[in-house]
Amino acid sequence: MTVKSSLPAVNVVWFKRDLRLLDHAPLAEACRRPLPILMLYVFEPTLVEDRHYSMRHWRFVWQSIEDLNRQLEPHGARIQVVAGEAIECLESICRRYTIDTLLSHEETGLAKTFERDRQVRRWCGSNRVNWVEFPAGAVIRGNKSRDDWDRHWNRIMRAPIESADLAGNRYAELDVAELFDVPADWRESSPLMQLGGETAALEVIDDFYIERGQSYHQGISRPEESRHSCSRLSPYLAWGNVSLRLVYQRLLAHWNRPGWRRPLSALSSRLHWRCHFIQKFESEAEMEFRPVNCGYRDFPYRTEVASETDLQRWQNGTTGYPLVDACMRCLDATGYINFRMRAMLVSFVCHQLRIDWQRAAPHLARVFLDFEPGIHYPQVQMQAGVTGTNTIRIYNPVKQSMDQDPDGNFIRRWCPELAALPTQVIHTPWELTDLERQMYDLDYPDPVVDIKVASKQAREQLWSWRRRPQVKQESARILALHVRPDRGRSRRGAQKA
Ligand SMILES: Cc1cc2nc3c(=O)[nH]c(=O)nc-3n(C[C@H](O)[C@H](O)[C@H](O)COP(=O)(O)OP(=O)(O)OC[C@H]3O[C@@H](n4cnc5c(N)ncnc54)[C@H](O)[C@@H]3O)c2cc1C
Repeated sequence: MTVKSSLPAVNVVWFKRDLRLLDHAPLAEACRRPLPILMLYVFEPTLVEDRHYSMRHWRFVWQSIEDLNRQLEPHGARIQVVAGEAIECLESICRRYTIDTLLSHEETGLAKTFERDRQVRRWCGSNRVNWVEFPAGAVIRGNKSRDDWDRHWNRIMRAPIESADLAGNRYAELDVAELFDVPADWRESSPLMQLGGETAALEVIDDFYIERGQSYHQGISRPEESRHSCSRLSPYLAWGNVSLRLVYQRLLAHWNRPGWRRPLSALSSRLHWRCHFIQKFESEAEMEFRPVNCGYRDFPYRTEVASETDLQRWQNGTTGYPLVDACMRCLDATGYINFRMRAMLVSFVCHQLRIDWQRAAPHLARVFLDFEPGIHYPQVQMQAGVTGTNTIRIYNPVKQSMDQDPDGNFIRRWCPELAALPTQVIHTPWELTDLERQMYDLDYPDPVVDIKVASKQAREQLWSWRRRPQVKQESARILALHVRPDRGRSRRGAQKA
């Protein structure tokens, strides 16, 4: 039997995608216990270098930690930020302290974090460290049935907000030499991106419920208006600067405000979808690497060299389709685009360019400031049409452009080379004559693909696959595992299933 050392005992609160103080169950629990608390954040090279992440994410995390530290300062506490793989860092802490209990939230993440958590569990077992994990939102670890899931969601979201009694605790620290000196460029803020941190998150919530949210449902599909009228809470929820419960309870507090029922009801659905999607990923995480519907494993995507060039044009915003290009450039600069435009981007790359969703998903993850594996992968697959259970949607980027950006303001902002074009041709610049192109001094690429021909081919192919026996068989399995029984096979709320 291993004998515990005489080093001072601490409890470690391990912050991951839960960078907040309010409604943080592991922290609240640590504060109820008598031992000093060591608050830990680990920048893990395996994740920092992962293809789904980019500097914008680590900046946001760093901003969030700085915000926590400002709030913790009056209590004499500070997040101890280290770099290294999780077990290395825990071992290094064990050279100074005896870890009694490790407290954290469960994480529904990439395969890498799942594997890391398995290793940490083993390490805790062999080092006599008690690891207490708390559920994140309404997601149920390893759940294999949706019976009663909605009731569970409501129970969790209506439960009291956890409050950590930070005063009067003792806080443990590491040596300065053990702490991570974050790279200078992570410390620079980017004015076009949302600022990380619990304080910023709470301001965005207040701002939404006080005024912005009243037009939520009106501008939701428009790329320009939605930047103001949507809640813009996604990075804060993704990195845990605020809990879903808190957002939902604020919504309930405003429920009876005159003139707000419609927008609040639309937002409420989306807050439900959040956990619904993450639950799918929790229950079938293999979908990071394969279509959830195995019947689509051999779907004939392009693989030739030219497909890589086309993928690059999609990524760089040079497809020759103004709305697609404006969305990509806007994402690159700001980290945000609304739901419909995300769906259109996936539709374009998977349907019209016939490029595998697996080649497209990591790029979108890198540019979405709100990258959340549990929403991202199920949504990408749904829009790519490889679930077999959802309506097949092939977006026409020209129609979307005319419908959602009728005056071309969004396009003009993100594709300045098109700014001088009259509105009637801004959605279809390829229709200009050579003389007109010269007149406008136009330097903009021709379309990467003929949209009508490509859409027709994609539609025929997707429908022929949909009829395959294996796809149908898998669809039945997916509905049984991932869909709440009361939703059955109905197509209501098609975004969700
Ligand atoms: C291909 C694709 C990939 C996506 N990847 C992500 C991702 O990585 N991270 C992410 O947070 N969202 C993702 N979404 C969902 C959605 O587009 C964003 O949550 C939303 O646009 C964020 O803006 P908002 O916070 O203003 O949302 P609001 O419309 O104000 O909604 C409030 C919150 O509800 C949740 N939510 C909204 N729509 C959905 C949805 N369709 N499914 C699940 N939850 C939802 C989000 O947490 C969001 O912050 C993806 C959608 C698509 C089509």
